[in-house]
Amino acid sequence: MLRFIKLTKNYGIQTVLDEVDFEIASGEFVSILGVSGSGKSTLISLLIGAEKPTSGRIEIDRLVIENLSSSEMQSYRQKIGVVFQDFKLLEKKTVFENVAFVLEVCGASNSEIEVQVGSILRRVGLSAMSHKFPHQLSGGEQQRVAIARALVHSPRLLIADEPTGNLDPENTIEIAKLLQKFNREDKVTVIVTTHDPMLLQNIAPRVLRLEHGKIHEEKHWKNPLHEDD
Ligand code: ADP
Ligand code: MG
Repeated sequence: MLRFIKLTKNYGIQTVLDEVDFEIASGEFVSILGVSGSGKSTLISLLIGAEKPTSGRIEIDRLVIENLSSSEMQSYRQKIGVVFQDFKLLEKKTVFENVAFVLEVCGASNSEIEVQVGSILRRVGLSAMSHKFPHQLSGGEQQRVAIARALVHSPRLLIADEPTGNLDPENTIEIAKLLQKFNREDKVTVIVTTHDPMLLQNIAPRVLRLEHGKIHEEKHWKNPLHEDD
């Protein structure tokens, strides 16, 4: 589904990604683990087409992301869902409206919106909160709204950049399990970046370590939180 081919990104004289090569198959759950500043968000920006590579390319179903026309980019963006560390909810809209907004932009009817938003809020466990505003929710709840918003249009690919960066350990595990649930039940491909092995606790994703601009496949990744296993 996704191929990263000799992908390089420089900022000035700094090489953040250095001829990175890897592939992600449809339906996989992949975690990109790297310390702060290792280039995780840079990789995500290239993947969502917000930045262009210095050299190399990313292909989605053999189309090069950098070369997508504006209408192709629009249709690509409708096939992906993105979640960020800081939730990025609209503060003046309710939970329901935050999620409904995505479908309104796609031109869905009011009845479709009612059904689909209701269904996704149920699946993230927030039905009872649909009329609250973001500031009335905990961090974990806000991130669940962001996940509902990212998934309400049934994308093929869910991209989460440090989704648990602002959350406590309990909520971190909660969010990780939620991502895993959608991966299993809906076959949505999930790419999640993190600096925190806690996120990977209790789930067994494919782990790619991003370090010094290179991606290393962790074939025998061992959760450091389970050192004694
Ligand atoms: P991470 O998300 O892993 O913390 P980033 O991808 O945000 O890492 O950043 C990787 C490196 O690239 C950092 O040294 C950062 O300062 C640099 N960087 C990121 N974005 C830019 C930019 N727009 N301009 C210049 N340098 C940048
Ligand atoms: Mg980042």
